[in-house]
Amino acid sequence: DAPAPQSETLLSRRKKSFAKPQKNYYAHPPQIERGWKEHLFDVKGRAYLDMVNNVSILGHGHPTLAAAVGHQWSLLNTNSRFHYAAVAEFSDRLAALAPEGLDTVFLVNSGSEAVDLALRLAWAHTGKRNVLSLLEAYHGWTVASDAVSTSIADNPRALETRPDWVHAVLSPNTYRGKFRGAGATDGYVAAVADVIAKIDDSGQGLAGFIAESVYGNAGGIPLPEGYLEQVYAMVRARGGVCIADEVQVGYGRLGHHFWGFEQQGVVPDIITTAKGMGNGQPLGAVITKREIADSLEREGYFFSSAGGSPVSCVVGMTVLDIMERENLQANAREVGDYLKARLEALGQRSPLVGAVHGMGLYLGLEFVRNRETLEPATEETAAICDRLLDLGVIMQPTGDHLNVLKIKPPLCLASESADFFAEALEKVLSEGW
Ligand code: PMP
Repeated sequence: DAPAPQSETLLSRRKKSFAKPQKNYYAHPPQIERGWKEHLFDVKGRAYLDMVNNVSILGHGHPTLAAAVGHQWSLLNTNSRFHYAAVAEFSDRLAALAPEGLDTVFLVNSGSEAVDLALRLAWAHTGKRNVLSLLEAYHGWTVASDAVSTSIADNPRALETRPDWVHAVLSPNTYRGKFRGAGATDGYVAAVADVIAKIDDSGQGLAGFIAESVYGNAGGIPLPEGYLEQVYAMVRARGGVCIADEVQVGYGRLGHHFWGFEQQGVVPDIITTAKGMGNGQPLGAVITKREIADSLEREGYFFSSAGGSPVSCVVGMTVLDIMERENLQANAREVGDYLKARLEALGQRSPLVGAVHGMGLYLGLEFVRNRETLEPATEETAAICDRLLDLGVIMQPTGDHLNVLKIKPPLCLASESADFFAEALEKVLSEGW
């Protein structure tokens, strides 16, 4: 169907006034008007299955959340320099969800802000500047979070333009990286040790290490077994702090774990979280140890006008309530595992499928032209996403080669929707790839 005339007009208005470098999905996007659970509806009433939305974890249009937000707005919204119940209750609740010892919370408005603040905490706490970050990572758009973002899919010049305090370490990608398979850990740990040795030689010291606990930007690839444990130990031996970026993988999406770092059996010094915790409302947090949080006082006070507002805190608490009441983490595990098995079965029939990464409702389906050389099927992946849109499925590519489908739907995904997605994908793949 051709887009409705008013959609075209609106699209050209968007192109005229909305700054160009801002990323958008699709050359000819449907004009979305409303959402319900894992479904989106365009202005013509056509339904799409939203398989990409890692922010709306409860699903779209949740009536309980809408009512809670409306009620709180009508009562009060102000900043956290005032005292009100929601800020105390939400901070308490977040600290209780974190591992023991991580008992102090900063509330901000986004993942980028959380990562920025985590880096500032690492600098303030250690008095050092150098930070280790993984290649192929994305951590945000603010100056410091962008600095530790090395993904060339998001910024083709990323590697030439990092400031000198950023030290990128080999991407621990066990599927297509330098070291592969189960025995890959030692190679990747040794690569980090080499970079640390150079920092040691410089005499400047190490402030910290930041990594997603499951390699999200690369397509949901689990880190090699024991990787974080060994890297954290090397970083801590030098007085550095370990930051787990849980902005994408945190909060129940993995199904088998609430936090991504649990999968590696480690406890970080600083957790950054955002996205799903607000179900789309700007909301982020840094959870850390009291002594790390207190170091920021050396730089003066921290304050964010909207961070930790009554409305944001009520959103955060209502999201947690609904997650518990509707067993969304368990659903992510059950439906996610079911979907993964279906996609793996599809991989048996389609040579284009190289691997299905991830767990729960954090999956990455990687397309390759050749299973030996792993040549990335980049153009095919873009065409498959466009074709899926025709069939009513919202899907986008990720990874440095943009050849991985990022499968991160709302956690309420029904198994019928998982079937719909798998069948749509099977149909597309049967069309001659
Ligand atoms: N960290 C990670 C791992 C992310 O995926 C993102 C967003 N894609 C961010 C940080 C930044 O979050 P935000 O877009 O909320 O600023």
